[in-house]
Amino acid sequence: MDSALTKTVSCEAETSSGHVQAEAHFEAIILGGGPAGASCAAILARAGRRVLVIERDRFPRFHVGESLLPLANPLLRRTGLDARMGGLGVVEKFGATFLSECGRDSARIDFAEAFDVSDPRAMHVLREDFDTLLLDNAQEQGAEVWQEASVLTVDCEAFLPRVRVRLETGAELWVEGDFVLDASGRSGILARQKNLRVADPELRKTALFAHFRGVPHLRGRNRGDIQVFCRESGGWGWLIPLPDGRMSIGFVFDNKEQSKSKTESAEVCLDRWIAGLALLDDCRSSLRREGRAYWEADFSYSTRAYTGSNWLLLGDAASFLDPVFSSGVQIALAAGADAADALLAGLDAGASRRRRALKRFERLQRRRYRFYRHLVLGFYRPAFRKLMFQPEAWPAGARSLASLLAGQERPGWRARWRVAMIFLTVFCMERRGTRSA
Ligand SMILES: Cc1cc2nc3c(=O)[nH]c(=O)nc-3n(C[C@H](O)[C@H](O)[C@H](O)COP(=O)(O)OP(=O)(O)OC[C@H]3O[C@@H](n4cnc5c(N)ncnc54)[C@H](O)[C@@H]3O)c2cc1C
Repeated sequence: MDSALTKTVSCEAETSSGHVQAEAHFEAIILGGGPAGASCAAILARAGRRVLVIERDRFPRFHVGESLLPLANPLLRRTGLDARMGGLGVVEKFGATFLSECGRDSARIDFAEAFDVSDPRAMHVLREDFDTLLLDNAQEQGAEVWQEASVLTVDCEAFLPRVRVRLETGAELWVEGDFVLDASGRSGILARQKNLRVADPELRKTALFAHFRGVPHLRGRNRGDIQVFCRESGGWGWLIPLPDGRMSIGFVFDNKEQSKSKTESAEVCLDRWIAGLALLDDCRSSLRREGRAYWEADFSYSTRAYTGSNWLLLGDAASFLDPVFSSGVQIALAAGADAADALLAGLDAGASRRRRALKRFERLQRRRYRFYRHLVLGFYRPAFRKLMFQPEAWPAGARSLASLLAGQERPGWRARWRVAMIFLTVFCMERRGTRSA
């Protein structure tokens, strides 16, 4: 992206009444205004770059993924948001409680005990409000934001990449820029167009979830914990306390146990699973679903490539993992910052420096993906779960795990070798189990 390449581009809108000509010049065109796209846009705009964000929906809009990790805080600060988060309503979260389905066994991870985590406070948010705050912030930092504008296709083969957009009015236009960043979430516009997406054969899951009233929040230090209940079938579920008093409740199933039903609505199916959840017995009479229920299916995938010469993929548009450790927004924000760094290093540089910046971005994303995938696959191993419910037997191990679950993807040696020991113990337990069977 030599600056010689950055030139004024023209956007030609074809409407039923004729042609509309708009003059614009963008160094970066970002597809999608979720956490990945909005955070990247804010950082680039703060650095004085000309950025366009094209978002299909009008914010605020519903989105799953309300539970954040402590290490989101420094990433949010990089976008220009301060600790007050624009007055956003949040539930403070200091840890995670893991429960057996009937509630008999439990284990708690407290982020304050984690190695290498200086600020242990995380938060639960209503994503409609959180995402709106991030997108508004990107605009305040100087990014141009088009809402209710759908990206139809991307042409990366041209000298300058261009994006076909349908505006709110129905008019369609091409927008040209120097670089395209796909942050379109699971839509994965470029990944699908270039056939880059690879489904994860070990994580074929379906999720079913909704918001509820009448479920009391916990009290004391763990009042803001995400509660993760582990089902005997291997599936699991979550209870996330929300700022307006509601509770987000969801189940994650192996596709063989429950897949997206063609005959039963999400509401009927979820009510059936909720009725069988002993954890909610005490509040069953006050429990009330608010709004519709949602399915999400086959949400774990990776990508064959994160970058090309004039494009890159970030956040869910590239890869996504099972949400058991609430890592989605963390990964999206981290990828947003990495993508901005890659562009800032490459925008005015020569070809070889630009290639190096993109290679570094690719390496970081692959490493992060492998890191979380290793943890997630661990969670589905029965021996790992057994160990998880005995934290008193391995206190330093629990502190190390807390550090990873806080979003610390580069823990120091203290946490690293202890986590390696946990996985070694799991391996030995499995070997013993196989031999005695
Ligand atoms: C069941 C489930 C539970 C989860 N729970 C959590 C959790 O507790 N904590 C957590 O951190 N994460 C969670 N996640 C993951 C989290 O929701 C995502 O990882 C996160 O939202 C990714 O951010 P993103 O910006 O990459 O994508 P998104 O947030 O999906 O943003 C993408 C944006 O692109 C826009 N877009 C799509 N197509 C187009 C188009 N054609 N043109 C223009 N715009 C377009 C969309 O409208 C959207 O606004 C969960 C995920 C699932 C499936």
